[in-house]
Amino acid sequence: MKSPLEAPEKQIAEETSAKPQKPTASVIDTSKMSEGKRAALELAEASRDPLDDRGSFASNLFIGRYDFDRIYPWPAQSAEDRAAGEDFLNKLETYLREHVDPDEIDRTGEIPPENFAGLAAIGAFGIKVPKQYGGLGLSQFNYGRAAVLLGSWDGNVAALVSAHQSIGVAQPLMLFGTEEQKRKYLPRVAGGEISAFALTESHAGSDPATMSLRADPTPDGSEFILNGEKLWCTNGVKAGVLVVMAKTAPKIVGGKERKQITAFIVDVATPGLEITYRCRFMGLRALYNAVVKFTDVRVSRENMIAKEGAGLKVALTTLNTGRLTLPAACVGVSKRLLEISRKWAGERVQWGVPIGKHAAIAGKIAEMAGNVFAMEAMTFLSSSLLDRKSGDLRIETAMCKMWATETTWKIADDAMQVRGGRGYETAHSLAGRGEPPIAVERFLRDCRVNTIFEGSSEIMRLFIAREALDPHLKVGGAIFNTQLPMSERAKAVFTSGKFYAGWYPRQWIPGSAGRIDNLHSDLEAHVQYASRTSKRLARGLFHAMARFGPKLDREQLLLSRFVGIATELFAISATCSYAQWLLGQGKPSDEVLLLADYFCRSSRTRIDGHFAGTRRNVDKRGYQLTQDVLAGKHETLRSGIV
Ligand SMILES: Cc1cc2nc3c(=O)[nH]c(=O)nc-3n(C[C@H](O)[C@H](O)[C@H](O)COP(=O)(O)OP(=O)(O)OC[C@H]3O[C@@H](n4cnc5c(N)ncnc54)[C@H](O)[C@@H]3O)c2cc1C
Repeated sequence: MKSPLEAPEKQIAEETSAKPQKPTASVIDTSKMSEGKRAALELAEASRDPLDDRGSFASNLFIGRYDFDRIYPWPAQSAEDRAAGEDFLNKLETYLREHVDPDEIDRTGEIPPENFAGLAAIGAFGIKVPKQYGGLGLSQFNYGRAAVLLGSWDGNVAALVSAHQSIGVAQPLMLFGTEEQKRKYLPRVAGGEISAFALTESHAGSDPATMSLRADPTPDGSEFILNGEKLWCTNGVKAGVLVVMAKTAPKIVGGKERKQITAFIVDVATPGLEITYRCRFMGLRALYNAVVKFTDVRVSRENMIAKEGAGLKVALTTLNTGRLTLPAACVGVSKRLLEISRKWAGERVQWGVPIGKHAAIAGKIAEMAGNVFAMEAMTFLSSSLLDRKSGDLRIETAMCKMWATETTWKIADDAMQVRGGRGYETAHSLAGRGEPPIAVERFLRDCRVNTIFEGSSEIMRLFIAREALDPHLKVGGAIFNTQLPMSERAKAVFTSGKFYAGWYPRQWIPGSAGRIDNLHSDLEAHVQYASRTSKRLARGLFHAMARFGPKLDREQLLLSRFVGIATELFAISATCSYAQWLLGQGKPSDEVLLLADYFCRSSRTRIDGHFAGTRRNVDKRGYQLTQDVLAGKHETLRSGIV
């Protein structure tokens, strides 16, 4: 096993921690950016906590450091923790099976009131809320298991329960709330008073810097008056209490105005607050999603979460953990779809054999199986590490969210193809002509939004890439920053030169994860590959930085390939660790090894594709083509349609 900090990376840690953290606006040159981009970036940077110097397993992949010992042996759920969740999880499973009718909910667009009451009665609205505040006090791991059950059964109920406690009032209060706020609100929401999270506005989607809902202090400062409108607030229609992000008075930083966002807990019954519209969607038809209007809504200063101006940090930190619920729900969706596909591919005979014997269909099912296994490994590895408070996991959770939601969409698409016409037919229609009501199209519609909300896939890639570049920005970012005095930039040339003279050559030394105790040789081969490849990834990223300098942030497609490689390496590593644990639990080795090996090999082919794309691509031409299309050129592409 390797020591936690090896020489070159220890150096990166020392290099970057020796000096006090600089505000990143001085590390990233924002001088040549458009006003909108600069404002978005500066706000995001001001709200960003630096990653701790040890990084995390996934973040370190980008600097060629492969700490398999941080995720191996598999951090299994303890017997006590499992036992603590068992009673609730059994009740939830029984409740869903016996009292929740997903197709009826989808058809009517309503979750029956008795389901709200029934879920509240078993504690489903306060799963992680500590017992002293009226919740079940369960771990992230058990919460994840609940999300798997919910996802596998009904997307609408999953979204209700998840938005309520992963991003609604419970999670931000558990992270940032005062004792008084916790005592006042946690028992309410754990008991079933629905909560919601209101960040998005019509003009502020991925870019909260453009938020316009204002919170102005009263003259004595004891209250704030909120005016504005929030869009797409999930659960808003049913909520009793909201977490609301609002713009407060700007702060002057370095002689310039900086936008401030502040988080508040707002009772829906407060005069001036109106739910003006219920939004309806392609899927999740029973989502209680609202437009919320605020007209002179008075909120006490005591209802501020964290301090004034910390609202975006509250939102981002809440999401860092909260976005683990979606991948867990995706595990549930994907397992259900795999099960549907498995049965159908075995029983549907065409051209003389079950369709699962045709290689084209078999290939889809193999891919689903491997991906379900890896998705579960990544999600529950991250959940377990979170329960163990193993450092900063924002990269892991973002990778889980991005990979699981995209992969689940692919699985839903493939499951529909496997089911053929029956995949496209609604459960209601199937039942009407005497066939089993198997709702592939409902799952497909319901899971589509997962790559859009709680941080879209594109924003996840930007977020991960930002963290990937962080060690390099801290060491060498100042060189390119025209906003800094020459003396500081010259100093950066010297320190970064010294650093890279040590770090860079080491990225060429064939890497190894070292000796790994008790890991099956088939799995070890993949882990050694991941270790070697993390160095190749680090070199590639460094070369891209050398080539593009401060303009690298514009190369979103190139950066997304590096993010894709690291995410696959994380998936391979989590899969191998999990597979070894299953072997230790006495699971049939031929089954486990075939599944893990299949996943790792297919992941490696995707990694090859990403690397090939970093060398040869049509990104530049594609960008130019898009600008032409946007400018109205290529008239033929618009002609001949209605
Ligand atoms: C069903 C549903 C439920 C929701 N629930 C909630 C909720 O409970 N609370 C809440 O606050 N919000 C909620 N939202 C809002 C959701 O989080 C936003 O839709 C999401 O943040 C994206 O914003 P947008 O739709 O305005 O897209 P935009 O930000 O306009 O983006 C459009 C596209 O451009 C991409 N894009 C944007 N900026 C960049 C960039 N810099 N680089 C590359 N690509 C970029 C995006 O990824 C996206 O593909 C919900 C939305 C839906 C549809």
